[in-house]
Amino acid sequence: MLSHLLHRDGIESIVVEARSRKYVEERVRAGVLEQGTVELMAATGVGERLARQGLVHHGIELRFGGRGHRIDLSGLTDGRTITIYGQNEVVKDLTDARIAAGGQVLFECDDVSVHEIESGAPRIRFRRGDHAEEVTCDFIAGCDGFHGVCRPSIPAGALTIYERVYPFAWLGILAAVAPSSDELIYCRHERGFALHSMRSPELTRLYLQCAPDEDIGNWPDEKIWNELDARFESGGGWALKRGAVVQKGITGMRSFVAEPMQYGRLLLAGDAAHIVPPTGAKGLNLAMADVRVLARALAQFYGSGSRELIEHYSQTCIRRVWKVQRFSWWMTSMLHRFEDENAFDQRRQLAELDYVTSSRAAAQSLAENYVGLPFE
Ligand SMILES: Cc1cc2nc3c(=O)[nH]c(=O)nc-3n(C[C@H](O)[C@H](O)[C@H](O)COP(=O)(O)OP(=O)(O)OC[C@H]3O[C@@H](n4cnc5c(N)ncnc54)[C@H](O)[C@@H]3O)c2cc1C
Repeated sequence: MLSHLLHRDGIESIVVEARSRKYVEERVRAGVLEQGTVELMAATGVGERLARQGLVHHGIELRFGGRGHRIDLSGLTDGRTITIYGQNEVVKDLTDARIAAGGQVLFECDDVSVHEIESGAPRIRFRRGDHAEEVTCDFIAGCDGFHGVCRPSIPAGALTIYERVYPFAWLGILAAVAPSSDELIYCRHERGFALHSMRSPELTRLYLQCAPDEDIGNWPDEKIWNELDARFESGGGWALKRGAVVQKGITGMRSFVAEPMQYGRLLLAGDAAHIVPPTGAKGLNLAMADVRVLARALAQFYGSGSRELIEHYSQTCIRRVWKVQRFSWWMTSMLHRFEDENAFDQRRQLAELDYVTSSRAAAQSLAENYVGLPFE
């Protein structure tokens, strides 16, 4: 998206990607797009397929104590919505657009490293096949995810790290079956959290809270479906539709922020700078929010020579980052079982869910964050 936005401002960029095009276009991750993300795609000419295939949702369900409670996202936020559209579809649309516009997207780059980031001409070195290559540029955008090389290239001591690792993970499956509900279901159950989501009218995405070191080999499909049934049980005749499991995996849960999100000519964006637990469906949307700010800052630099927005890049992004961290932590805390919780914690958690689903003010706060906070 950053490369696409820069291109629209007449700024040249080269995307250096470690994986193959096929791999990134098939990698199943996030699927909930905030309205602001959808609008950004539409406004910049890459939203056509999203408008056709995306599933617009106006609410979500919170299920606890065996009962479902709808949060009317649109009714509580002046008509705002979320759209279900796989992250890999977003990647496809953006890659197609960059390549159609003659953009340079280099896949399968090995041994990527960044150099001289404090200078006015930082460099990126990498290998493609047998060829060692080097790019000299004005800026490096570190958009290489949590495990990338950009953040670790910043000297120790220049960053402050804020982190919380949760004592559980998500076991996720993608099933070839129509969703069992029109909307997402976030379920708090004595046996642990569960989430019913979807990627399309034919694909259901389901998650179960599990141990952080869970071995996926211990979870044959039948056991996963039985556990999902137990957690989603609502007594109202609702049943989870089963289908072939086409993908399964375990995702760790972490809150992480590295501050500041810049050092010299290296500017971090997305997971390279921060990670949220997926309960708030924010990771992809926050990465989009960062690059929106970064593209504007670079456009100012190339347009007028002013460095003002670049110098304030981290400061501008970080306010949203922390609000999204707070929301993601809060949703996670409200819906999961914690190893060390006692009876008081459990009653407080249920009271919180009761409050959120019975108070308009509390539900509105959830809805406002879930559809995406406004951009400054
Ligand atoms: C398994 C998994 C499941 C997830 N599920 C959800 C979800 O359900 N909901 C949600 O909201 N969020 C989810 N997320 C989070 C969301 O996908 C991320 O927040 C989002 O992808 C962040 O975008 P990004 O561009 O910053 O990083 P990424 O999407 O990770 O992109 C970074 C890119 O850099 C490449 N790269 C890495 N290292 C290098 C290197 N050294 N050199 C060159 N390229 C490199 C990677 O291949 C990748 O393509 C999930 C994440 C994971 C890992």
